[in-house]
Amino acid sequence: MELACLDLEGVLIPEIWIAFAEKTGIPELRATTRDIPDYDVLMKQRLGILEQHGYGLPDIQAVIATLDPLPGAREFLDWLRDRFQLVILSDTFYEFAMPLMEKLGMPTLFCHRLETDENGKVVDYVLRQPDPKRESVKAFHNLKYYVIAAGDSYNDTTMLAEADAGILFHAPDNVIAEFPQFPAVHSYDDLKAEFIKASRLVSE
Ligand SMILES: [Mg+2]
Repeated sequence: MELACLDLEGVLIPEIWIAFAEKTGIPELRATTRDIPDYDVLMKQRLGILEQHGYGLPDIQAVIATLDPLPGAREFLDWLRDRFQLVILSDTFYEFAMPLMEKLGMPTLFCHRLETDENGKVVDYVLRQPDPKRESVKAFHNLKYYVIAAGDSYNDTTMLAEADAGILFHAPDNVIAEFPQFPAVHSYDDLKAEFIKASRLVSE
């Protein structure tokens, strides 16, 4: 069987922290690993900002519930799930992603989790394992799946390299230039065409 592995943010839904910063009007939450390369420092800063503005997990989830998947994402996923087994590999957190996953028809999601206290305050985060996207593809190979993967950013490139076929979708120019071995497309129609090209079983 063939397995499709997709990144989530930037591929099917907006970047959650950036969309959340826009919805709440807290510009400091727009910072990403491009501004603060140490992920631990960045996450501690984000959790500090949430606390400072009095946002507990239920408030955050209520804001995230107002976000929508990218236009065309749901239709694309439905097309993909008719043809492949699908697993979404993401560096987001279950507690943030779930309101959006409902709008995508609840696909299987492998990501990280948050810890909250009894008042709903986010006190910590737990990364499932180092290099989780690549490790997941390795595990699927152990299970004898042929894997086609697509993602938009640096944190996807080890997954794309480990997969039998890797595709860049919505990637910025610097990522496309640095990883010319992967085909790069920008529309769901072109992404479907790349999946068909990479597949050994699906032809339309
Ligand atoms: Mg992404």
